[in-house]
Amino acid sequence: MTPGGSAPQVPGDAVVSLTGAERAKQLRGEAALVAGELAAAGSAVRLAVVVATEDESTGWYVRSIARAADRAGIACDLVTLPPDAEPGLIRAKLAQLSADDGVHGIILQTPLPPGAVAAELAADIAPGKDVDGANPLSLGRLAAGLPAFAPATAEAVVSLLDAHKIDLAGRTAAVVGRSTVVGKPLAHLLLDRDATVTVCHSRTADLAAVTRGADIVVAAVGRAGLITAEHLKPGAVVVDVGTNVLPDGTLTGDVDAPSAAGRASALSPVPGGVGPITTALLLSHTVRAAARTAGHPFGNG
Ligand code: NAP
Repeated sequence: MTPGGSAPQVPGDAVVSLTGAERAKQLRGEAALVAGELAAAGSAVRLAVVVATEDESTGWYVRSIARAADRAGIACDLVTLPPDAEPGLIRAKLAQLSADDGVHGIILQTPLPPGAVAAELAADIAPGKDVDGANPLSLGRLAAGLPAFAPATAEAVVSLLDAHKIDLAGRTAAVVGRSTVVGKPLAHLLLDRDATVTVCHSRTADLAAVTRGADIVVAAVGRAGLITAEHLKPGAVVVDVGTNVLPDGTLTGDVDAPSAAGRASALSPVPGGVGPITTALLLSHTVRAAARTAGHPFGNG
């Protein structure tokens, strides 16, 4: 059965695991190749990650981006600001990096100091360097169908589905979560691919009834085990964006995988699904931004 096909799943069918490693490897390899060409031409690629938190898991995540960048031949500057940094200080740093010709990509890492609104601060990231689609201008351009960097996580969902050859055109998709970084941009990306999209959130009256009507369900909430078999139609394709750390330290998604596997035709694992592609796309976007500046053909993508 084609993953996500409308045929009901026969009990005992194996659920397809929508792993992201292969696609991520391909993206990283392509980014490394072009980064090497740019460096040889005198345009070494540089990414800046602005961090204003002492949150441990964020620190771990940011260092993992820096390591991946390093392996791809991309210099990565971790720009650390105090966890109580005023919005003005963060905006000034973003503006300074935006004006720096040696920096090609800028990420404003969340969480931010209390009271800071990410989308407001990110307005100071130059759109051409906005490799995680955080500037509201990027989201606006995405909504208008104009070229822009999409938030890497949202794009990673579509990239994962493409990698596993899951058709989107004409399919119904339910996106659970409406954040500016995942749910909303993802809805636009899926619409661009001719899916019929419903966006759900905490005030959706009967979540299970909505998601049960969808061929593709994407969970981007941040609640372990929220999506169960009860939320799925037989044969549904399920992408789990959620990353939740359980009290014992294990990382788990928003989908109750054992339950969902009884009804879904395909399911992305956590970890190992959307996450690796997200990181690879941040590198790919950064190299694309540098390639545009340098007039390299990779910049045309
Ligand atoms: P967020 O800003 O907290 O948004 C969560 C969304 O879920 C909100 O729209 C919220 O609705 C909705 N929601 C909350 N409870 C719900 C419920 N019971 N039923 C339906 N919807 C509900 O989170 P986010 O930044 O989008 O991140 C979502 C998840 O993705 C998190 O686990 C995060 O760690 C993960 N994530 C993963 C990656 C990756 O690369 N794998 C990257 C980014 C984020 P309201 O709008 O009504 O409050």
